[in-house]
Amino acid sequence: MTPLEGIIREIIVTEGPMRLDRYMALCLGHPEYGYYMARDAFGEEGDFITAPEISQAFGELIGIWCAAAWQAMGAPVSFNLVELGPGRGILMSDLLRAAKVMPGFSAAANLHLVETSPRLREIQKRRIGAGAKWHDTLATVAEGPMVLVANEFFDAIPIRQFERHEGRWRERCVGLVGESLTIGLTEAESVAGQGAPGKDGETIEFALARSDIAGEIGARLARHPGASLIIDYGHFISAPGDTLQAVRKHEHVPITAAPGECDLTSHVDFEGLAKALRKGGAATWPGITQRMFLLAMGLEARTAALSGLADERMAGMLQRAMARLVDESQMGHLFKVLAATSPGLAMPYPFGQP
Ligand code: SAH
Repeated sequence: MTPLEGIIREIIVTEGPMRLDRYMALCLGHPEYGYYMARDAFGEEGDFITAPEISQAFGELIGIWCAAAWQAMGAPVSFNLVELGPGRGILMSDLLRAAKVMPGFSAAANLHLVETSPRLREIQKRRIGAGAKWHDTLATVAEGPMVLVANEFFDAIPIRQFERHEGRWRERCVGLVGESLTIGLTEAESVAGQGAPGKDGETIEFALARSDIAGEIGARLARHPGASLIIDYGHFISAPGDTLQAVRKHEHVPITAAPGECDLTSHVDFEGLAKALRKGGAATWPGITQRMFLLAMGLEARTAALSGLADERMAGMLQRAMARLVDESQMGHLFKVLAATSPGLAMPYPFGQP
């Protein structure tokens, strides 16, 4: 039993079955035993690998996008460059290096990193430098013009699940069956979501915490010039389905297998996210796949340029990295990219491209 499992059992014994959003928040964010607090999850040696860790070109192309967005905002002499969930800080360091091609961008950028894990904050500080400011939430980032990026951040923000049972929705919770933690339906009908249509056995996911963050981004884009780029795995159109998953050492494991010791995420509903951004006051642009985004931003040319400087072995690695990011059977289709801007700004490239 993991130490966190003991804590979760005690809560269930005294308070009853635990909602999935609370379970997820504890598994990922418990101050001592939460997944992101305690361990180094990233890379081949860790539990999962993210796009910035696969190729430096990923962060570089996002850097070019950010520089273009800053120019489209009127190149303000001071603006907030915000990243949500920067992980090991690789995306931001690649972004900053590439964005140097845009005169004035680096000098105008005030770096704000939203990160709850003290351990990851330390790693980010070492890679990016102490010039950035760290925040627990977006709420404390100073008001002003903003360019915001978030890669694989929203999938880690907790969700709730409801399952249709005999014509009514019930909430799925973590409870205790005998000796083991298990996910099951609560006896009581849920209060939320009863109006949603559905068939028996169908599961729907509610991500209020995600909508709250997207709403806050939208409100900031409405108050000041700015743009945001959200990248994650998920679906363009809201749809029923159970997408909660736990991953350890690059393998799927049961959600309740080892609380605090595996990554726990769910697919991002981009339609829901876009709605929340617009409700906050931003304009959103039809989402595209990671494949379309990276190829239109010049991934092939950048990979070729890097390969030209590399030996044969390295060049082979760069090719494989590119394939991993854009192949339809790998990350290319599953990962989606959503842009939002202040109302009145033009649709940013490469959104809306054929
Ligand atoms: N963007 C990085 C890391 C993705 S993992 C990459 O692409 O490699 C998710 C990141 O979000 C981690 O840095 C994690 O610590 C952070 N995180 C998770 N939940 C968070 C929350 N509620 N508030 C702020 N950061 C959070």
